[in-house]
Amino acid sequence: DDARLSSELLGMDGASYGRYKSLRGDWDFGDFTLTVQRVQSDPFAPPSRVRVLVPDAGIPESAWADPVRRRATADYLGRRARGLLQGSLLKIDTGGQEVIERSSCRLTDGGVELRIGIDLPGHGRRIDGRTAERELCRTLPALVDDLAWEEVDAAEAEAFADSVADTVALRDQLADRGLVAFVADGAVLPRLSGVSDRPMADGAVPFDSPESLRVGVDLPHRGAVSGMGVPEGITLIVGGGFHGKSTLLHALERGVYDHVPGDGRELVVTRDDAVKIRAEEGRRVERVDVSPFVRNLPTGADTSDFRTENASGSTSQAANICEAVEAGSRTLLVDEDSTATNLMIRDERMQALVHGDREPLVPFIDLVRPLRREHGVSTVLVMGGSGDYFDVADQVIMLDAYHPHDVTERASELARGRTDADFEAPRARVVDPDSVDDTTARGRGRIKRRDMDVLVFGESDVDVRSVEQFVDPGQIVGAGLALRRLVAGRHLDGTRTLTEALDSLEEALAVKGVTLLGDDFGGDYVLPRRFEVAAVLNRLRTLRVADQRRGG
Ligand code: ADP
Ligand code: MG
Repeated sequence: DDARLSSELLGMDGASYGRYKSLRGDWDFGDFTLTVQRVQSDPFAPPSRVRVLVPDAGIPESAWADPVRRRATADYLGRRARGLLQGSLLKIDTGGQEVIERSSCRLTDGGVELRIGIDLPGHGRRIDGRTAERELCRTLPALVDDLAWEEVDAAEAEAFADSVADTVALRDQLADRGLVAFVADGAVLPRLSGVSDRPMADGAVPFDSPESLRVGVDLPHRGAVSGMGVPEGITLIVGGGFHGKSTLLHALERGVYDHVPGDGRELVVTRDDAVKIRAEEGRRVERVDVSPFVRNLPTGADTSDFRTENASGSTSQAANICEAVEAGSRTLLVDEDSTATNLMIRDERMQALVHGDREPLVPFIDLVRPLRREHGVSTVLVMGGSGDYFDVADQVIMLDAYHPHDVTERASELARGRTDADFEAPRARVVDPDSVDDTTARGRGRIKRRDMDVLVFGESDVDVRSVEQFVDPGQIVGAGLALRRLVAGRHLDGTRTLTEALDSLEEALAVKGVTLLGDDFGGDYVLPRRFEVAAVLNRLRTLRVADQRRGG
């Protein structure tokens, strides 16, 4: 077939661009199969899509038998492929600093499957058959040859997988040790800049754990490692402005993902149910039970069944917390820099001036302990501006010129008694599956993203700028595909609660892997977490909740 494709492409040279469509289908190259899945209609349309299946690339069983190493090795090979394709018209999607399962490069048992984009070349509206022939019949086979295990730096590939395996092993130990996070000694937390996620190059102060919080762990490849364990419960991170509080919290937000060797955060891990909470003025809220946080509103609205097209800072943050818990999170990460102050604290003088019955908001400080006690939800909170949280914190970590100190004792001397509010389990929601539909007015499915800001889902634009644990553009597309799958796979069936639907989808993904989300999808996508899937659903302006259930 390769000779046939070659003569086909050379024969098309100069023909009208639409003839490229005739390439669709399978081309057998002997040691691999090229499938032309989608052909762009003109040179300016989104790239065409091809799939390359190499049944035997000589990849040893040790690299693919275990699911973690399989993901890591696929990621490693994807990055290698990207390097090899520099300067070519073939483009492969790869990750940044995180190692997350993606559609572009997957391992089979011993082989590799690639999904690649190609801008099919043209001279205006005429086919450039010579260039197309070079890309598909020479560059591509050369790529396949270079991904064969005997061509790969096996030691480097193994070290990459070892590093990811250690990260996963470390994260898996957190729950048994009663920790929500771990930050290894020597970790490099600060990043190069606000727009680069690479490690700070010069002047980074490596992490050094305070003795009282130091924990030793044994990892399968690296062996003994020490670092700071962040215990379950309520952890306060304090310190002067610019002393590194937000940088630490950001590292914990990202600690739900695995990082590439050399990132500096390979051994910074957080429980995988951790969700960053923030205020998000203007978002829509659909029938969320925010009654623990919001009681008698001046409008008289029922806050156990709360809906708004335009939430305030405080109600949006309350909804974000209730939704995170509904989606299954038991670890909340909060930074004062992005919260609504009136939902966080209310000091004595304000209480004296504005009486309880005039204030609909119950501040987080009165609910953070009941959340922990009754619902097992831990919180890690950055708060440099108020000492009120000393009253409720189980441990207080102070950052001083980027060095952490355990100041729990000092803080508890300054603490005062405080009466908690009640946190009744919020009502669980049953989503109407018909309200989750990516069909456009023209009757076609549409899922795409605009930068890291918007998921386009059918006729809806979903604003995801405040969903901070989206770290890879492909996850946004992946979350859109997961919404489609929630409905198509009948996980959302009009009777299951949202929590149950997410459990059900997650089980299916664990078996089938990321391509369950869109085997024929004409683009790249990355496995989203259930929390980001829920976040996208909750921000969908068409979402309708059919029912609420107690005790869900
Ligand atoms: P805070 O939240 O306490 O005000 P930030 O976390 O925003 O402080 O950090 C302030 C600055 O210090 C940032 O520019 C950050 O990159 C830098 N920084 C943070 N941690 C370190 C570190 N360990 N070493 C060097 N610079 C750091
Ligand atoms: Mg800060």
